Amino acid sequence: MIHRVVIRERLHLELVDHLLSRFQGENIQEEVCFALWYPGDGTHRYTGILGEVLLPMSDDRDLHGNVTVHGAYLNRVLDRALAAKAGVAALHSHPAGGWQALSRDDYDTERNALLPFVRETRLPLLGLTLAEDETWSARLWHEPHPGDVRLAYCTDVRRVGSRKLYVDSPPSTYPAYTRRTVLKRTLDSWGLPTQARLARTHVCVVGAGSVGSMILESLARTGIEQITIIDDDEVALHNLDRLVYADRRSVGLRKAELAAKHVRRIATASRPVVRVVPLSIRTKRAYCLAADADLIISCVDNAEARDVLNHLAYSNCLPLIDGGVRVDSPEGRLISTKWRVHLVGPDMRCLRCRGQYTSSEAADERQGLRHHGRYIDDPEPDGPEPGQNTFAFCNLVAAEEVRILLRYIVGESWWHDTDPTSGFWAFEHQFVDARTTRFEHPGACVLSCEFTHKRLGQGKLGRPSYPFLPEPRVNWSAYTRRWFRRLGSLVQR
Ligand SMILES: [Zn+2]
Ligand SMILES: [Zn+2]
Repeated sequence: MIHRVVIRERLHLELVDHLLSRFQGENIQEEVCFALWYPGDGTHRYTGILGEVLLPMSDDRDLHGNVTVHGAYLNRVLDRALAAKAGVAALHSHPAGGWQALSRDDYDTERNALLPFVRETRLPLLGLTLAEDETWSARLWHEPHPGDVRLAYCTDVRRVGSRKLYVDSPPSTYPAYTRRTVLKRTLDSWGLPTQARLARTHVCVVGAGSVGSMILESLARTGIEQITIIDDDEVALHNLDRLVYADRRSVGLRKAELAAKHVRRIATASRPVVRVVPLSIRTKRAYCLAADADLIISCVDNAEARDVLNHLAYSNCLPLIDGGVRVDSPEGRLISTKWRVHLVGPDMRCLRCRGQYTSSEAADERQGLRHHGRYIDDPEPDGPEPGQNTFAFCNLVAAEEVRILLRYIVGESWWHDTDPTSGFWAFEHQFVDARTTRFEHPGACVLSCEFTHKRLGQGKLGRPSYPFLPEPRVNWSAYTRRWFRRLGSLVQR
């Protein structure tokens, strides 16, 4: 099991302010504080998501180069953790740079003094060290059986900002990234360290339809090492004008499986790991597998899925890139085409507050009253069905989503306040008028928003309040149906 920690940028700034406040001048003084943390969703990675910071009051500890913490402070922290159903994180600073190994003193302090927290909260104790250069290092202390204390070093600490994802990890986490001819042009574009950072970002693509297939093509060619593909749909004949990985023989087969096969074939990563999840993102298994990723790209076309992804992004502090295209062509005449692409996540406005879907649309879809943007009871529209699209429009949306991904991972200080994709803004491109509209959004959600308040960073406690979809049973009739459908489409041609 891989252990890791996630810190929101806003908490990081608050912690830097406190923990490194006494590092100026001659007398360097370490600092301590506690915080709450919540276990994240995730199947193959155990994630501790840092929550509320509990700063010490002046008589809570003695500062003498090292720090001695008083019992009253520990009790206050424990009470707060129990009330919030959270774990306890102990944080301190070091006057050094880079990932910090655990010193003898730290080992003894965390092992002995803080273990009661593990027994009371029934969650591991999270130990974090902040180095002077703002690099985090972390470990988990747990006690599977009384007296059997185990220490697990974390593989990385991710700092999720609204403009960048920072990853701190010990040198042992990743083997050295080496130059390879297959990526020569890419490496020459942005250099080895940037490529290493990009390649190690585990990206989950939800929806392997038209836009998703093009994004997967980009990710595979760019050398991304870990990709998760989530889609429960099958290829139909009318998909073939947009799916990069499909041809006539693909009809009736699962999109996620075909896409994965294609990604593995064209991957430029040295050891590509492609995970296939042929399930709806509304099932618990797909939701938890998506939470393993470092970043999610949403290529879904319905409110129901967007609501689930919004839950995932805020409760697990996962950056999420979402895009959509809307074609308006009554009676087969193209009047307008617009597309919007957003980056959402902690410290940024959520998908619902940006107007990408409404709660009632999502609820209606869950109850089966609405499908693909249209109420089931509505009369059939005269013109083409809504949801029509072309390869070229999908390609433009996919390119925008990839552009945001690159800026978020590769960019250092490129983002400025007027950037249309900085997360505080949204933009909409109108194809027919060749016009780009920028929407100024305040950085935060509306005050009553459950995602940025109640659910933010809560991990498992922040899951949707409606039940997950049951997984479809593997049965022979569905299998046979798929094959008959495939046979049918072969005959149709
Ligand atoms: Zn220390
Ligand atoms: Zn919101």
